[in-house]
Amino acid sequence: MPDLPAPFLGEPYLLTPGPLTTSRSVKEAMLRDWGSWDGDFRAMTAELRARLVALLGEDAEAFDCVPVQGSGTFVVEAMLSSFIPLDGKALVLANGAYGKRAAETLGYLGRAYTLLDKGDYLPPRGAEVAAALAQDSAITHVVVVHCETSSGILNPLKEIAEATASAGRRLLIDSMSAFGAVSLETGDIAFDAVVSSANKCIEGVPGFGFVLARKQVLEEAKGNSHSLSLDLHAQWAVMEKTGQWRFTPPTHVVAAFLQALREHEVEGGVAGRGARYAQNRDVMVAGMRALGFETLLDDAWLSPIIVTFFCPADPAFDFDSFYNAMKSRGFIIYPGKLTVVDSFRVGCIGQMDKSVMTRVVEAARDALAEMGVKDATPPSSALEERKHLSAPEAAA
Ligand SMILES: *Cc1c(COP(=O)(O)O)cnc(C)c1O
Repeated sequence: MPDLPAPFLGEPYLLTPGPLTTSRSVKEAMLRDWGSWDGDFRAMTAELRARLVALLGEDAEAFDCVPVQGSGTFVVEAMLSSFIPLDGKALVLANGAYGKRAAETLGYLGRAYTLLDKGDYLPPRGAEVAAALAQDSAITHVVVVHCETSSGILNPLKEIAEATASAGRRLLIDSMSAFGAVSLETGDIAFDAVVSSANKCIEGVPGFGFVLARKQVLEEAKGNSHSLSLDLHAQWAVMEKTGQWRFTPPTHVVAAFLQALREHEVEGGVAGRGARYAQNRDVMVAGMRALGFETLLDDAWLSPIIVTFFCPADPAFDFDSFYNAMKSRGFIIYPGKLTVVDSFRVGCIGQMDKSVMTRVVEAARDALAEMGVKDATPPSSALEERKHLSAPEAAA
């Protein structure tokens, strides 16, 4: 792809998991007002829904798309409350903040759940899911986070989906930070529903999320939700009937997202987008390792979305100063979320390519020099904390 220009003069790149750096054309798509009832906007909604279903691969005709106003968490809550019946029970797989948030949401919703909590980053494995399901016949649904953005790990979705399907249970996926860049096709993975949002790998701006779910599951969801505005069955039924969103849609965000979807297609769809992000990761990780930084995870578990690095042991290192030194060079990085050791994260998603990532590494080198950090090697305690994991059984 051509060299991506800086988003706007003086605007920093967002090396974050969203909102992220969008293209100029995506921003420009917001320079007009749309009537939410008008046929032109209804056509935009229909195109958006069809394009998203198409990203699930060739045999996705059993699925439909329901967009929902709000941030990603709203649409996770909509999925959980609409698809898990009042007498259902979830097995929530957690290895970071988003898995825990799903469990917290179920608590608010008054749905029964069991939490399989692997701590800061260890992946839930297929065999553990199989064992948990064998132990508790009340469990109806498994809830999994595809890329756990807290650490950047790409969870082993394929083995988890297989364990869930062979136990006859249903799978709900939070693929917020991976959808559109990591393949998730209905022909490969058995699941009932997946959620993502406008401001992640499709590279739109924040304002809504979407659910891709089996039509059968949407039909059966009638009456499950505690919430008027988050009721997916109702949103879907009205959209099917009228082509409209039930309450004011984020019209500009939808226009920007449609432009982002067209650009996603031009780049080669999920494969093309995923390849650019993987290259971003590879260039950035290799450069950071050459400076002495170490990643939390072995290569087999690194997602092309965001990477966690340990903070250097050198006493001259301080995250806030590093953050500001990176920002003054045009790059916004992200704090880490590990509870035991100090870390930070660098995102690979958004309108950036490997030439930008090379500049990120140069900026990190200069920032360390400015702070007087001689070597970015992490403390030995961090390296002891890091467990080496066997590779996932199948890439998912
Ligand atoms: C971004 C994200 C969410 C949603 O977060 P919001 O701040 O509500 O948009 C949920 N799950 C994962 C894995 C995410 O990366």
